[in-house]
Parts: sequence; C-alpha cells; structure tokens
Amino acid sequence: MGKIEMTTPLVEMDGDEMTRILWKIIKDELLLPYIDLKTEYYDLGLEYRNETNDKVTIDSAEATKKYGVAVKCATITPNAARMTEYNLKEMWKSPNGTIRAALDGTVFRAPIIVKGIEPCVKNWEKPITLARHAYGDVYKNTEIKVPGAGKAELVFTSEDGTEIRETIHNFTGSGILQGIHNTDESITSFAKACFNYALDTKQDLWFATKDTISKKYDHNFKDIFQEIYEKEYEDKFNAAGIEYFYTLIDDAVARVMKAKGGFIWACKNYDGDVMSDMVSSAFGSLAMMTSVLVSPSGVYEYEAAHGTVQRHYYKHLKGEETSTNSVATIFAWTGALRKRGELDGNKELMQFADKLEKATVQTIESGKMTKDLALITSLKDVTVLNSEDFIKAVRETFESI
Ligand code: NAP
Ligand code: MG
Repeated sequence: MGKIEMTTPLVEMDGDEMTRILWKIIKDELLLPYIDLKTEYYDLGLEYRNETNDKVTIDSAEATKKYGVAVKCATITPNAARMTEYNLKEMWKSPNGTIRAALDGTVFRAPIIVKGIEPCVKNWEKPITLARHAYGDVYKNTEIKVPGAGKAELVFTSEDGTEIRETIHNFTGSGILQGIHNTDESITSFAKACFNYALDTKQDLWFATKDTISKKYDHNFKDIFQEIYEKEYEDKFNAAGIEYFYTLIDDAVARVMKAKGGFIWACKNYDGDVMSDMVSSAFGSLAMMTSVLVSPSGVYEYEAAHGTVQRHYYKHLKGEETSTNSVATIFAWTGALRKRGELDGNKELMQFADKLEKATVQTIESGKMTKDLALITSLKDVTVLNSEDFIKAVRETFESI
C-alpha cells in the first residue's frame, strides 16, 4: 500500500530532553512508514534557540500563522540552573509564551480517556476540556507591600489627561496591594476561540466567573461573552445542537463534579491554571492530557500538556531504561494531522489520525502500557513496557486493526 500524500506541510517544532527522544521514535515507527510526511521543521531544542538568539521560536510561530497547523514537542523553559547547564547567552523566554503571544490564542486541554484508567470522579464518563484565557489578570500584576498607614487609590489617567480615581483602602497599618488588568480585545479573542472550539468539537460551552463580587471586572468578561454569543454564535450553536451558558464559578465547580463530562469549561486565567491541574490529575495522569492552542483567526498548535520529563532523560543519558509515556505526544501529532486533513480535504489523513489514536488506546486497554499508567490502572495482567517498546506495541496494534 502506498503512503498517504499530504498537500500542505505541517509546522513541526522539535523540542528537548526525553520528549525529543520520543519525538523521533514516534516519527520513525508511527508516521514515516505510513505518510509521505510533509513538514516545515523548526528545532526549538534549547541549544538551537540559544544559537539563533531565540529567532527560531519566532520563525516557527510565523510559519504557524502561514500554514495554519503546527505540532510542538515539549521544550525547556530556561531558569538559572539551565543557564549553566546549557551555557546560555540569555535566559530565553518560554517558547510557549512566545508562541501564544504571536498567535493570540486560548489553550484547550483535554484528557485522553482509556478503559482501565478511571477518573477519581466516578460520574465523569467523557472528557472535560478546559479552556484557559492566557492573558492578564494576576499573571500581569503590579504589587505593593504596604509598609504602614496611608491611603491606597486606583487611578486611571486617559490620554487627554482626565482622571478616574477610586479609593481602594485607608490603611491604618501595614498590608498588601495588587493591581491587575485585562483588555476587551483579549477577552473578545478568548470568547471567540471558545465559541469556535465548541462548534468545532460539537460540545457545550460553560463559562463562569465571580461576577457577583467583581461587579465590573468579572462582569465585563460575562458581558463580552454574552454579546458576542448573541451577535455571532447563537444561531450556529442552535444549528449544531449545542448550548452556551454562563454561571457563577461556585455553581460551575459544583456542577462539574456532578456532570458526566463531554463539555468545554472556559475559565479566566487563574481559574484555568488551577482547575486544569485539578481536572487533569482527577482524570489520571498529566501524561494523558492533550493541549491545543487555538487562535481567533483559526490557527492551531497541538502539543502534550506535560514537560520534557527531565528526570527520565537523565536516566536515559546514563544508559538506564526509561518507561516514559508517549501518548499525549502521539495525540499531538494525530490532532495536527487530522486538522491538516480537515483543512485540505484530505480524508485519508484524517482516517489515519483516527486509526492511530484508536491503536494507542487499544494498546493500553489490552494491558500494554508505560509505568506511570501501570501504577494507577484497574486492569489486571499488565505488561509494563519501556519508552520505545510501548511505541512499537502501538505500531503492532495499528498494523492489526
Ligand atoms: P514534566 O516534564 O511534566 O515532568 C514532571 C514529572 O511528571 C516527571 O518527572 C514524571 O514523574 C511525570 N511525567 C510527566 N510527563 C510524563 C510522561 N510523559 N511519562 C511519564 N511520566 C511523566 O515537568 P518538569 O519536570 O517540571 O519540567 C521539565 C522541563 O519541562 C522543564 O524545563 C520545564 O520548563 C519544561 N516544561 C515544558 C512544557 C512545555 O513545553 N509545554 C510544559 C511544562 C514544563 P516521575 O519522575 O515521578 O516519573
Ligand atoms: Mg498550574
């Protein structure tokens, strides 16, 4: 049988450490034998980022805008220890941050559901996708440690010099202060990305903030979502048979715990940070979370939610065997290939992605898995495989179905 042809290249962003090792095995075993793989390759490994003064990251983001679909391997975000380890010229920014800023996107995270890896919450039958607004609020704050008694004010000075001034608090002793912001433009992009993703995946969309307490700040999020929904999306949602609703964050949390899953939960930046960790760990494992960045202009970047699995990489370097889970990285590829197929009208490519996902899930359900899953599975007679053998087992399943 001939290989599947591709018309438009995928933007391929290679990465670091253990996930870079998995990246190559996945390509060699699961992709290249079946697809005439067309990619525009960018090496986001830390060494090459350093060599190019991080230009490669910016180039890869620009290429993503051009072609529309990217697949990314996990990458190191440098800290002080990495400065010495890699002899870096600068503490380069997080590639994910750079790419997100360039694409102006929203991050959607969803767990991969497998029989035998049951969520702690028994009634969660379908995945819960978390949509996290990735701009502003407490992540771009200004803080003051108040030394003692005095008056704190919130002041806005417009370009023409007019002022809006509110008293925050009259301090009688020491304390703390924080200033945060968001922009209507960013909130609008966030809302559109959520509505588009809900339509794309035919799932209901829930959105929640604390608007009863934050009558201007959080209320603004609620109003922007509602206005855009009514103006641009209500008819499309009705036609697709899906629902959008807003509720208070407390109510959303309570409902999520009782729900069956199968919906998108949109959260403000901080809520999304915290809730996505809760949802992913309740679903079993970080190594089973997919992540996709969707821009309001319809550009997609797929990746695994976990990092470069540094600890396993050091074992690998010492020549020791590793059992690193490649499932989320495989699903990053299948997500990107399916989207590429959809945009190009390439049915074969879409079917390939479906089949590879099915083979991956079936391999685990047949009892072959990596160590992280073996520790939490309810299946009996489990075979623990090393990093490479798991991928080879997926290939065997793929060949057999
Ligand atoms: P990590 O790579 O996600 O790994 C943390 C721990 O979680 C691992 O040590 C391992 O636990 C477990 N784990 C994660 N993924 C796994 C997998 N696929 N298979 C099996 N176990 C897995 O996080 P980190 O160690 O904090 O970060 C390492 C590097 O990744 C950092 O330089 C960070 O900057 C980067 N990072 C990148 C991204 C990204 O590119 N999207 C995201 C997060 C972090 P055990 O050791 O107990 O087996
Ligand atoms: Mg977090």
